[in-house]
Amino acid sequence: MNNELKTVKGLGDKTLLLLNKLNIYEFKDLVSYYPYKYNFLAPQRLIPDATILVNAKIITAPSVFYIKKNLNRLTFKAIVDNKEIKVSIFNRAFLKVHLHIGKIISLLGKYDASKNLFTCNDIKLTPITKTTIEPVYHLVSGLTNKSIAKIISNALIFRYNLDDDIPLVYKEKYNFLSKEKATLILHNPTNLAELKQARLRTIYEELFAFAFKINYLKIKNATYDGLKRNSCLTKLKKFIKDLPFSLTPDQEQAVNEIYEDLISEKRMNRLLLGDVGSGKTIVAALAMYINYLSGYQSVMMAPTEILAKQHFEELTKTYAPYGINVAYLTGSMKKSERSKVLKDLKEQKIDIIVGTHSLLNEEVEFANLGLVITDEQHRFGVNQRSNLQNKGAKCDVLYLSATPIPRTYALTLYGDMDISTIKTKPAGRKDITTKVFTMQEISTVLKAILEELKQGHQIYVVAPLIEDEEENGIDVKTLAKNYEKAFGTITNIAIIHGKLKQSEKDKIMQDYLENKIGILISTTVIEVGINVSNATMMVIYSANRFGLATLHQLRGRVGRNDMDSYCYLISDVFTPRLKVMEESNDGFYISEKDFEIRGEGDLFGTMQSGDMKFKMADLRKDMKIFMQAKKDSLEYLSLGNLAPTYQNIIKEIDFLQ
Ligand code: ADP
Ligand code: MG
Repeated sequence: MNNELKTVKGLGDKTLLLLNKLNIYEFKDLVSYYPYKYNFLAPQRLIPDATILVNAKIITAPSVFYIKKNLNRLTFKAIVDNKEIKVSIFNRAFLKVHLHIGKIISLLGKYDASKNLFTCNDIKLTPITKTTIEPVYHLVSGLTNKSIAKIISNALIFRYNLDDDIPLVYKEKYNFLSKEKATLILHNPTNLAELKQARLRTIYEELFAFAFKINYLKIKNATYDGLKRNSCLTKLKKFIKDLPFSLTPDQEQAVNEIYEDLISEKRMNRLLLGDVGSGKTIVAALAMYINYLSGYQSVMMAPTEILAKQHFEELTKTYAPYGINVAYLTGSMKKSERSKVLKDLKEQKIDIIVGTHSLLNEEVEFANLGLVITDEQHRFGVNQRSNLQNKGAKCDVLYLSATPIPRTYALTLYGDMDISTIKTKPAGRKDITTKVFTMQEISTVLKAILEELKQGHQIYVVAPLIEDEEENGIDVKTLAKNYEKAFGTITNIAIIHGKLKQSEKDKIMQDYLENKIGILISTTVIEVGINVSNATMMVIYSANRFGLATLHQLRGRVGRNDMDSYCYLISDVFTPRLKVMEESNDGFYISEKDFEIRGEGDLFGTMQSGDMKFKMADLRKDMKIFMQAKKDSLEYLSLGNLAPTYQNIIKEIDFLQ
């Protein structure tokens, strides 16, 4: 692979290795390694206290002071705006040989008038005389913005034909720049207008291909014959009536939508989107009941064994009066048990089977699978989604997701599916009292923990790291020691983190579930779906280091019944995100806020998976372009005579299904 790049001028083995670190292996990786932002540089007057660019004439030879091993400071005097000033820059000792008296250069940084000192972030050896747009790349040490841009320019000279995924019709319709021209401009822009054009066509190209995929999946799904099922409203209503609680209106609506899908001949491909604790499991249980009434088997998959087990236990209880056979299959089962389950499944002695996602990869055979349900599905990309449907020829699919993303974005990301949303939580659910404390105020939190323990309740404690080299005492292991000292005589304390074996984690979670552990100290491994209703307090250390989605998911581990529950966020800085957490318990509200705050917005960690990883497009900003690309790609599909890229996309999807 590297061979292709070796022919590019100026690209030796050493640089190639550096590029590999940036995931650049092939020519197309290189030319599409776009800058993540651009600096707009133009010479300015010497204004104090703002980041500015000024041109300067050097009047003294520079001297370098070595302060520490990795810290040096270069200083010299210069004339700027007819004024003699001091100039200083850190860690650029290597510039010394280039800075001769009389030379004119550009300084980028801040001017402190009281010290008459200009502290630079950067020095440009060639002075900038007119507005210049400087591409900024994500780098690794050994590469500079300049060297990357140079390599890419050379690469573009070496081979000028680039694959363009925008079909000719739309290139002409929108009068887009050619791919080659746009690529050159992105790496070497000379004015804003052309940069905008280049970005637009590149974003459109990416989103067109993505939208095409989603559109094709959607059309294809619609052409599938589903299974025919008997209407069963009377039985379904009775089942719902006999539940220990009544469904919320949103749950009811979701069940209706699923019922319609299942009864109709169309194949269901539906996403059930609902905040943590909104009660998605019972909706799934009802879907499987409808399926069961027509004599089909169902499978329900969860991301971890412990979650799968919890679903299994809950479903067993729910179905107890109805003679429905529920089974559980795991990797850690005894061989004999396992083969019994597999045999029963094949002979349809089992109606519903619960397990992890490995259920579908293994040699699991069904007599007549009718419905596949997958919990916490936000981890999957488009391709994996289609892969799921392989097992039953016509089976319906329901995905459950607790990632509360705004509906418009859900429609984009999951545009190939129908969506049901549960917005409100079951009645009687109290908000989780959420409060931010500093480390100085920690004794208040510890007292509150003691109170909860006295009432027999359980506590979750979360820290970002297992072990912290900086020894500030807020990693899982150190916290465990301190908590042991404080609470060890009253309750059992355990730790859980990603480095433990799955079997160890499962054992600890099981003990916690059975209330054998009072305080569970962990990293974010407990994030997903687990339901321990006796846990009433969540304490999160260094809370400012987590994204909103993670904080909200973590908090969702408590408040799972009508007891008062609490979430304490420990942080010495009070960030906007923490404020949102104090303000609201509503996942949809929080996700909207996350959008506004931007930050790392890890809700959209979802977008980073597989085929939703865009090089330039950002759905948060480029929604309009996406909507257009979606319309166009749908039209394109109907035109027929597709370009090879799109024929290949179709082949790939057809193959997977
Ligand atoms: P999630 O949507 O996070 O998966 P669950 O399905 O685990 O939530 O539901 C959380 C809890 O709420 C469970 O204990 C469940 O039995 C309960 N629950 C679900 N629906 C209702 C309802 N309509 N009224 C009362 N409790 C409910
Ligand atoms: Mg759940």
